[in-house]
Amino acid sequence: MKGSILDTIGSPLVQVDSPEGATVAAKVESFNPGGSAKDRPAVQMIRSAERDGEIEPGDWLVEPTSGNTGIGLALVCAARGYDLTIVMPADKSAERRRIMAAYGAELELIDGDMTDARKRADELEADGATQLGQFDNPANPDAHYRTTGEEIVEQVDEREVDAFVAGVGTGGTISGTGRRLREEFPDVEITAVEPARNPILSTGEPGSDEFQGMGPGFVSENLDRDLIDRVETVKLEDAEDECLRLAREEGVLVGQSSGATSLAAQRIAREIADPDLECPEVPGAFDSPQPASPETDGGELEDCPLVVTVFWDSGERYLSTGLFD
Ligand code: PMP
Repeated sequence: MKGSILDTIGSPLVQVDSPEGATVAAKVESFNPGGSAKDRPAVQMIRSAERDGEIEPGDWLVEPTSGNTGIGLALVCAARGYDLTIVMPADKSAERRRIMAAYGAELELIDGDMTDARKRADELEADGATQLGQFDNPANPDAHYRTTGEEIVEQVDEREVDAFVAGVGTGGTISGTGRRLREEFPDVEITAVEPARNPILSTGEPGSDEFQGMGPGFVSENLDRDLIDRVETVKLEDAEDECLRLAREEGVLVGQSSGATSLAAQRIAREIADPDLECPEVPGAFDSPQPASPETDGGELEDCPLVVTVFWDSGERYLSTGLFD
């Protein structure tokens, strides 16, 4: 039995479609109680602010977010007894608004982008709210260091992680998880993924904010650029096609940023694949009671290059956008 819903945070690492000679695996973050990876920093930011004596239950919190952090915070605030105001650009999905409201959070929609949402949250902070500040709060990457990264290290079953691929919003996921993986696997190549039309990391110039959660149009203070070996860009329409493919061919229902990281992870897997190796599938319960042998004539699992990526949230969060129509 768990002490509260907050103790259920965590996700499985699942093999997805992989090219010849390599394995691609994704952390399927929709398994978290609030349905996305952002439950992790939400809990950690509130826990560390409580420990530092900055907040206590009953206080008023505010946060600018493209949605998933807002949902994670709304869940934690409900469980811990805080009042929460979320400031979110109005173009994000209707599901996000409804879920936050269901948890009892107050929602302020902004005609503008994440930069405008941050300005409005600063105003509410001046009015007396405490802003947790996911873009510069070290508890955000720290949550991923302690949980996402640690879980991957345990879940790869002693295989080496050759590449880690993650999209960038606040940079919390790539910086915290990347730091833990680099500690464990010093040769791991870390790739940041960003929208092709909002390529701030590749070009230094912001563009249009079209992905929900990925590519905020500025470089977040929480992004540790020293960890990043390369940057890949993905077009929104290609990411959306990949979401459809993942849903219909693999039974994996995810949002656009996950579609983007999936495409980038496959690109990298094709590059580092060993063409002489016939990589076996990771054995699964479906094959039980006679699980597929992890060995084939061609190779053993531990010899196969391994690319790990993150699927942030579920496709259910985007049904109203027509993503799967
Ligand atoms: N994808 C989605 C759907 C997200 O909500 C987020 C978080 N904003 C990201 C990607 C990027 O994660 P991070 O903020 O940790 O960089």
